[in-house]
Order: sequence, then C-alpha cells, then structure tokens
Amino acid sequence: MRAEIIAVGSEMLTPFRQDTNSLYLTEQLNTLGVVVRFKTVVGDRRPDLIGAIVTALSRVDVVILMGGLGPTEDDLTREAVGDALGIALHRDATQVAALHARAASWRIPMPQNNLKQADLLEGAVLLQNPMGSAPGQWLDTVYNTYRKVVVLVPGPPHECKPLFDAEVMPRLREVAPPRAIATRTLKAAMIPESQADKILAPIYSTYTDVETTILAHAGDLQLTLQCTKPTLAAAEERVDELAGRMEEALEEWLYSSDGDTLEQIVLYYLGLRQATLAVAESCTGGLISERITGVPGSSRSFLGGAVVYSDALKMAFAGVPADLIAQHGAVSEEVARALANGIRLRTGATIGLAVTGIAGPSGGTEEKPVGLVCFAVSDAQKTDSMHRTFRGDRKRIREWASQQALDLVRRRLM
Ligand code: ATP
Ligand code: MG
Repeated sequence: MRAEIIAVGSEMLTPFRQDTNSLYLTEQLNTLGVVVRFKTVVGDRRPDLIGAIVTALSRVDVVILMGGLGPTEDDLTREAVGDALGIALHRDATQVAALHARAASWRIPMPQNNLKQADLLEGAVLLQNPMGSAPGQWLDTVYNTYRKVVVLVPGPPHECKPLFDAEVMPRLREVAPPRAIATRTLKAAMIPESQADKILAPIYSTYTDVETTILAHAGDLQLTLQCTKPTLAAAEERVDELAGRMEEALEEWLYSSDGDTLEQIVLYYLGLRQATLAVAESCTGGLISERITGVPGSSRSFLGGAVVYSDALKMAFAGVPADLIAQHGAVSEEVARALANGIRLRTGATIGLAVTGIAGPSGGTEEKPVGLVCFAVSDAQKTDSMHRTFRGDRKRIREWASQQALDLVRRRLM
C-alpha cells in the first residue's frame, strides 16, 4: 500500500517551523508495510489544499492529512477534503454535545466557531482525540473507481501521535494487505564519495526491489536499504543479500552493519580490547570528547583529556617540548605525535589521540593552508601520525577532523 502524508499549515512554509510529525508517522506506517511515497507541505489556503488532496488521491492508496482541524478560520482541512471528494459535511450531534461538555468542564462559554470541529465528512468515522478538541476522521471511500482511505489527524504533535497510534494504526492494519518492510543501515567512515559510488552503484542498481538511499556528511557515509515483500522473511533475504555484497565491497571503510555511530564502534572496540582512551584536542576544541561522551557507558573506556588550544597548554598539559613547536609549528605531525604520546602518558590511558589543525577562516599560509589537520594515535608499541587537508568552513573542517580522528582509533583497534 502506498501512502502520502500531507502536512497542513502555513507556518511550515516559513523558515521557523518544520513538519516533524511525518517522521513518526512514516516509522509507524512502515511497520505495517505501508510505504510513504510522497510527503507534501501545504499552507492554509483552500484551493492549494484541494489541489494537494486531488493530486494525492491520484497517486496513492492512503492519504493522511494532518493539521488544520482547529476551530479557526484558517483551519480548512475538513472542507477541502469534502471539496476534493465531492462529499458533504454534516454536524455530528454527539460531537457537538462533547464540545459543550468540554467547555462546561472548563467553565468557559462555548465559542460558536468551535462547533466546526464537530463537522464530519459523510461516511467518515470520528476518531477520538483525548488530548484536544479537534477529533480526527477516517474515511474509507471510492475515488474514480479506486478504493481510497483518507485520514484526518490533528497537527499538534502531542495530539497527532497518540491519536494516530490508538485510532489510525488498528484500522490501517485491517485494510493494509500483509506486507513487511525490512531495513538495514550500513555505515562507512572516510571513504571518498566518488569511490563509494564507483564500487556501490554497480551492486545496488541490480537490486531494483531494494530501495537504497545514500547520505554522506563530513566523512560519514550512511547507506539505508529497504525492501517490501509479502513476508518479512522474503524482505530480509533480499536486504541481507545486498547488504552482504556491499559490506564486502566497502572493506575496511565499513564500520557498522547496524546503524551504529562511529563513536559507538570506537567504544565497542575499546571495551573488547579492555583498552582506555585519552585525547588532546586543539582545533576540534572538545568535539571528539563530546561525541564519545554522548554514548551512554563511555566512562568504562574513555578517561578524558585536554583541550590544548594554546602552545602553552600543549606544553603544560601534554608535555610537548617547546623546541618541537618552535621547529615544526603547532600544526605539524611532529607536534601531533608528541601530544598523543604525552596525553597517554599523563593520563595512563592505553591509547592517546591528538588533533591539531587550522580550522580557519584565517590563519592559513601557503605551506599550511586552512583545513590542514594533523592527527596522531599512540599506544605503548607505536605512534602513528597523518595529515589531511579538508575543504569547507570552520564547522565542517572541525566535523571532518573529529571523524578522521575517531576513525584512526577504530582502525588501530580493528
Ligand atoms: P489541529 O487543528 O489539527 O489541531 P492546527 O493546524 O489547528 O491543528 P496549529 O495551531 O496550526 O494547529 O498548530 C499547532 C502546533 O502544532 C503548531 O506549533 C504547529 O507548528 C504544530 N504542528 C502542526 N503540524 C505539524 C507537523 N506536521 N509537524 C510538527 N508540528 C506541527
Ligand atoms: Mg494549522
């Protein structure tokens, strides 16, 4: 079954608000094997709404409208659905009584325009909304000889979600043919995008029944595979097969077959090796520590470290010799190595990690441009270092640097 979610509300066409409800609804629909084929955001204008509804009716089986069920002039969803389907609205007596009772219990007079919320589409079932005054509606109807389900739910997230779970999901479960969706998320670190495409496209393009989406951000590649079949076993078989081939192709770039973050994986390996980590961060200013400590239980393997932004602190907190900085500059592999080694010895960690670089926008030179970042990883056996030059603004350079640093630790532990 194919669904379209229409978020109704002019505020979601401004720079200040986004439709977030649909993420939750999509997750719920997917558990039933209902695939969201379109999402539309439309303002509170009746002709626009009618247009969006007519378009949705022409291309999916289930149309879910959220928002615009309130009592005010700009709440037009009910009327627009009626117009699009050629169905009349009638005022539901039970609902009118419920609205009066609600107003009475709050000891407020019943505003006349609130009665709009008792208007039900002909043939629709009213969906109780315990969290608000606007009930939802479920309409199982026929449009151009095709069966269509049209659902109206309120927009406020704390009303939309419980109503969807309690009233919409059980009804959808009855009408949706048994389909199951299998999904899998593979993650890879620091693989160049062109390389990823070159090795992956020939593989996933032959699996036309598996939808593959690729997200890349600052050295993090996320591949989501999704397949819909009559049974979960059949869907999982296809996803597993494709995932297996991709995992093989990604080699050591692959760090998770299960959607984990890179920091989770680093901590997993540290735990496995009974190793501890300490960091000396210059240009990342604590970003690496922040990512690691964001994982619950990180205290088992992460000791901490220091933000050594100035030369003085590089010397004081990580024991970097002054002449090393004088000779090579603070941004150099030599200093990175001394930092990694120094922080390891000072903290007693098994592994020391260091990052020093030029995040920009100023401070670059011909020889050491903005984006140059030096890394080092040190343990009792050896100290490795490397440098990379990242492109982008200050934020992106720091994100790339934290990703590269974590990946170096992962590779050391693998
Ligand atoms: P309803 O009448 O269906 O209860 P409404 O459209 O009258 O909803 P609004 O007052 O327009 O309600 O919106 C209430 C709040 O809910 C606003 O903060 C709005 O931004 C938020 N909201 C509406 N739709 C969504 C959505 N799809 N995702 C996230 N927030 C939403
Ligand atoms: Mg609204």
